[in-house]
Amino acid sequence: MPASASPISDILLTEAQIRRRVSALGAAIAADYAGLDPLLVGVLRGVIVFMADLMRAIPIPFTVDFLAISSYGAQVRPGQVRLLKDLESSIEGRHVLFVEDMVDTGLTLHTLLRMLNERRPASLHVCTLFDKPRLRLVKLPLRYVGFELPDRYVVGYGLDYHQQYRNLPFVGALSAQVLLPGAAPEDLAS
Ligand code: 5GP
Repeated sequence: MPASASPISDILLTEAQIRRRVSALGAAIAADYAGLDPLLVGVLRGVIVFMADLMRAIPIPFTVDFLAISSYGAQVRPGQVRLLKDLESSIEGRHVLFVEDMVDTGLTLHTLLRMLNERRPASLHVCTLFDKPRLRLVKLPLRYVGFELPDRYVVGYGLDYHQQYRNLPFVGALSAQVLLPGAAPEDLAS
């Protein structure tokens, strides 16, 4: 679906498609966690739009908390993260659902799950809205997956490019003009 005169070359998921899938994820989570008072844990900032909608799609009691991390350069120390903000609640004995916007290589998530597991939660599962399974470098159990995406850089619905485009209500691939601003138009595929 082309979106001309826009920094987005293709819309991969519309607002309505995302809304329907998030509702279904919320219903599945509510059914699985009924009576367990789960703790939803998200990593700032990419997850905030998804988390806000997912929370309203889960009609059972739960609490929510956030981590903030900074990833070291992928080439320098892949998967190594520095904790900028820790959780405010203890997770010991809690049923924790880790909510992610995107799982790509899985290295960041792998590191975070190991860290959270050391705090002895009663259970720890993952819900990711987007999954790029072809790029996975570590095996990770993902209990809930919203959409599988091709290996393209996408923005919107909370996902950014240099902190921009998080406010788009749909998910789209960035045009080559944005990704390669110096390239001549005839060199650009889309
Ligand atoms: P990985 O799984 O490779 O350790 O890291 C996943 C993280 O990379 C995601 O949480 C997200 O921040 C970022 N990421 C991966 N693919 C994309 C993409 O297509 N668009 C955006 N905006 N971020 C991405």
